Amino acid sequence: MCSLWIKRPLAALADCPGGIVVRDGRIAELLGRGEMPARSMENVFDASRHVVLPGLVNTHHHFYQTLTRAHPLAINKKLFDWLRALYPVWSRLRPEDLRLATRLALAELMMSGVTTTSDHHYLFPDGLGEAMDIQVEEARRLGIRMTVTRGAMNLSEKDGGLPPDSVVQDEDEILADCERVIGKYHERHEGAMIQVALAPCSPFSVTKSLMCACGALAEKHDCRLHTHLAETHDEDEFCRASFGMSPLDYLEDAGWLSSRTWLAHGIHFSDGDVARLGRHGVGVCHCPTSNMVLASGQCRTRELEAAGAPVGLGVDGSASNDSSNLMEGVRHALMINRLTYDASVSHLDALRWATQGSARCLGRHDIGEIATGKQADLAFFTLDELRFSGAGDPIAALVLCGAHRADRVMVAGEWRVADGVPLGIDVSELRAAHGAAARRFL
Ligand code: ZN
Repeated sequence: MCSLWIKRPLAALADCPGGIVVRDGRIAELLGRGEMPARSMENVFDASRHVVLPGLVNTHHHFYQTLTRAHPLAINKKLFDWLRALYPVWSRLRPEDLRLATRLALAELMMSGVTTTSDHHYLFPDGLGEAMDIQVEEARRLGIRMTVTRGAMNLSEKDGGLPPDSVVQDEDEILADCERVIGKYHERHEGAMIQVALAPCSPFSVTKSLMCACGALAEKHDCRLHTHLAETHDEDEFCRASFGMSPLDYLEDAGWLSSRTWLAHGIHFSDGDVARLGRHGVGVCHCPTSNMVLASGQCRTRELEAAGAPVGLGVDGSASNDSSNLMEGVRHALMINRLTYDASVSHLDALRWATQGSARCLGRHDIGEIATGKQADLAFFTLDELRFSGAGDPIAALVLCGAHRADRVMVAGEWRVADGVPLGIDVSELRAAHGAAARRFL
């Protein structure tokens, strides 16, 4: 599709009552009331039923966990007990399971309006050496942008870590695969569809030596760094007992305090920590749903943003959410932040975290906004369901009434979801195959 006029939307998260002109995959013009495109258009889409948002950007997930949602061994536990229950179950993961889990998570995300996602994949039991390749293939198949993160665990129980031996790798093997994946897939140009980040899992599952080595590799290859940090009090106690310092001091010690880094959760930070994060431009992915499910705590979004730290949004893994719906995450972000602060936290704050804020976490300047020159990544919602009837402000209605399914989604000017369904896959077939694969994990 070369040129398209998205004509007169019902509403949009930009000042463009006349519509949006898309040309060669980018937003070429925003039209005022009564304005027409400057040139003739090959295609016109009547958006009079649609509320148009920038495509949502998900900055934290663990796709493989879709296979262990609402797992009887793990429900109603806090993080460390939840992890100890699930590590042995997850060690059964095979390539065909990861492929189905990735396809399912991507489909779910896209159906909720997501156009770019990352996935923190840190689980590499024997036989799963091509996990990153599988994820790239699936993202390309569905046409979604993706930052694959080559995660890792190398600190098992016998060395003082939390995971069992069956799910960890050694440092040399991890670093060799990081280099391989970056060399094969990391795109640095504007409009990149696939990028690679390095993502040792957490302070309690990797060695500091691996953290340092990944930091150096990211510098060498100009890619980003991601890890879990300051999620729970247990993690804080682990860091003080094992390393004699706080999680943020540990991060600084490993050379990660930089604008190359974005962190998952980022809850238990002192005022001094928040100021340091802001000074160094470290991003924080706020995961409201997961934080409530695991009772982990409340992210200090307002202080972090005020200090200069980008704040994005993530659904987190599908065993601590347990869905992959980022619009639902936007609503949860609004609610938990109102509880943390006050009613001045608005639906526009929550939407900003899921779009511009998330794009900044991933180091991207070309997505996350409906603005001239940005990539044409857009999510279209209707207000046709009963839950929206009677709503006044269409944008606020999406968040307050609980929009959870996009009618259409566009990535780089191409339709990827139509009539609520991702193009190119059979959703019922996928549900059946994924459900069958998940039975092995019970
Ligand atoms: Zn996570």
